[in-house]
Amino acid sequence: MVIENKISKNIYLIGFMGAGKTSVGKILAKKLRRKFCDLDEIIESECGKTVSRIFSEHGEDFFRDLESMKLRSVSKNSGQIVATGGGVVLRQVNWEVMERAGITVYLKTSPDVVWNRIKNDTSRPLLQVEKPFEKVNELLSKRIPLYEKADLIIETENQNGMAEQRRFFFGLVEHGIKAPVIIKRNYSDTPFDEVRLYASTDLGALLVDGFGDGVWITVEDLKTNESSKNIYIKSFINQNESEQKIINRLLFGILQATRTRISKTEYIACPSCGRTLFDLQETTEMIRKRTEHLKGVKIAVMGCIVNGPGEMADADYGYVGSGVDKITLYRGKEIIKRNIPSSGAVDALIELIKEDGNWLNYPQIE
Ligand code: SF4
Repeated sequence: MVIENKISKNIYLIGFMGAGKTSVGKILAKKLRRKFCDLDEIIESECGKTVSRIFSEHGEDFFRDLESMKLRSVSKNSGQIVATGGGVVLRQVNWEVMERAGITVYLKTSPDVVWNRIKNDTSRPLLQVEKPFEKVNELLSKRIPLYEKADLIIETENQNGMAEQRRFFFGLVEHGIKAPVIIKRNYSDTPFDEVRLYASTDLGALLVDGFGDGVWITVEDLKTNESSKNIYIKSFINQNESEQKIINRLLFGILQATRTRISKTEYIACPSCGRTLFDLQETTEMIRKRTEHLKGVKIAVMGCIVNGPGEMADADYGYVGSGVDKITLYRGKEIIKRNIPSSGAVDALIELIKEDGNWLNYPQIE
């Protein structure tokens, strides 16, 4: 499993002293082929004094000012792995810089592990006190809620990636880590019709479980791949729409289907059976293309009049096959137009939505 950053942005490693931010940062930088920088080392080399000496000569506030200044200047560059000082999380202004320029990853350690690693290290200014172990506990308990504000992006290349990512989430739950997590998958070698399928099952299954705070997929050459000839894929892709917008629509669809975020119309289609009186996928797609921006409106597309009305659940409108090329329109459970020709049925449905004051002009979903 890979924990990756926002493409070219910085990864800020945060955590208590002795958490291994410098060691992990160097390894991560090598693996991701990125520049590594250690905030404390930069401050020491620019001031010509150790952190410990800056603390003892000028006090903690002075050091924190320097730290914020250096963080800001380091963050002007992107694509770096930045090991921060243990106290960088104390200032809101530092969070704003880190969140703007990248992501934060918290390296969690228990007080005992920290103590074993640093008990003989005299360069830690905050621990030059009478009872250093108690000080570790005191500082950690104050800082843990701040460290846990870090966000994570998890990506997997495992064939059973969804199971692996789910295991990762279980680990977070077990350890009581509440950091926001973005679920990421790479579908660069996958035809787009399969991307829709895999992204829905890979990301959707985790979201349905209540895991994840964001989704992110990467896809290459969306429009040029062979399967874009497929009719449903063609109909999904609006002309002149950028690749980014197509991916956004797909992801908004997954968020909506999992009830994670409602941003558009809700569709309830019957499963289709021998009674279905039209091509269910084609018809649903046709209705979706003209009505998908009606946030919160529920439209049922049902294949027949026999069971359709019973299967519509709590839909606001029903589009139900009632004969060959015949559609019956419902408002809730009430029939509004019976047996109208299917050629004008979508227009009639839109008219009905307009009559109810539920119509909006088409916005762009960014
Ligand atoms: S609504 Fe009609 S066509 Fe659709 S699954 Fe039910 S019985 Fe079949």
